[in-house]
Amino acid sequence: RHEERAAHLELVAATLEPEAAADFLTSFTIVERILARGEGLIKLGFHGGVPCLIHLVAPEAFAAARFYYTASAGHLAQCQKLAREQGLEIAEGGVIIMPDGSRFWPASEAEIYDLLHLPYMPPELRNGTGEIEAALSGRLPDLIEADDMRGDLHVHSNYSDGGWSLSEIAAAAREKGWEYIAVCDHSPLLAMAGGLSREKLVARNQEIRRLNQEGGVTLLAGAEVDIRADGSLDYPDDCLAELDIVIASMHTGFQQDRTRLMERLAKAMRHPHVHIIGHPLGRMLDQRAGFDLDPAEVIRLAAETGTALEINTSPHRLDLPDIYAKMAKDEGVCLAINNDAHERSELEHLEYGIGLARRAWLEPSQVLNCLPLAKLRQQLQQKRSRA
Ligand SMILES: [Zn+2]
Ligand SMILES: [Zn+2]
Repeated sequence: RHEERAAHLELVAATLEPEAAADFLTSFTIVERILARGEGLIKLGFHGGVPCLIHLVAPEAFAAARFYYTASAGHLAQCQKLAREQGLEIAEGGVIIMPDGSRFWPASEAEIYDLLHLPYMPPELRNGTGEIEAALSGRLPDLIEADDMRGDLHVHSNYSDGGWSLSEIAAAAREKGWEYIAVCDHSPLLAMAGGLSREKLVARNQEIRRLNQEGGVTLLAGAEVDIRADGSLDYPDDCLAELDIVIASMHTGFQQDRTRLMERLAKAMRHPHVHIIGHPLGRMLDQRAGFDLDPAEVIRLAAETGTALEINTSPHRLDLPDIYAKMAKDEGVCLAINNDAHERSELEHLEYGIGLARRAWLEPSQVLNCLPLAKLRQQLQQKRSRA
């Protein structure tokens, strides 16, 4: 379900020989301890990482068990209630007790939802947060998929702290089947991250224009401009006006109080050249909580100013988190799913961002970088002409 944290892993394995399977699964050297072993169940502890619970079930019980053990408690309880209303019971392990008392193992998860007269629900929706009600009234979202992405709007090149050149970035985007990729290097305030001086930015933009003449994937000349402590931006306006796209981010001032932070962010969002707020909450999972912001107010301001909010896909960030991404969607705010990649391999973080976006019920129409290039340019221009 793409939860951002997990206290343990829970797997379902289909086997005709549960004892032999349990022997096999406990024999790996990465297994530090067998925490539990019972009929059809083993719990393993590893050197580092979270424990893993493995249910060993007969092949015909696999789909039911997968549904039963991987749904959230809330989703399962609601499904069980719906089942009871139809004279059915979803019992331990997902087996369905029919009205005549016979036991029935559905062949697929879709068949379980069918029995409940519900459409199939992807795992990311199974959180007990209104999906059953939405399904019953035909309002389930048509969830975004990785193939819907037309590009990435936030990567760093070796002009700042990235480890890859502009042509390598273009080649990677082409390999992904994307139409465009925005190079958003840091601004001077972030000297330790190689923030670009104005001169260096101009030189980089020239190289981008030159590479674009070769055709293929379009490189967008962008910046991840720092929002200074007073809310002003770290490049002058005429410099920002020359860029295709501007992400504004806060990387400093974590000690500022909420009032000052909100003023700072509001000022940046009202700026006509700011298209996206990067990693809006500034949190790092397991490291820091982020800025003392009021997320609902950030979202309201984004809606008011026509500024998009980023879903930063880095597994260390996942920022915006899913609940706020959903709130943003509900407020009509556009989201941008960005890898903030400093090297090629970080483009693979997209999977986490898509998972998060699906948990937030996002559809392609609500995501900036699902737009084809011409439409994207139009949308970026709209923000600039609002002022
Ligand atoms: Zn950043
Ligand atoms: Zn960045």
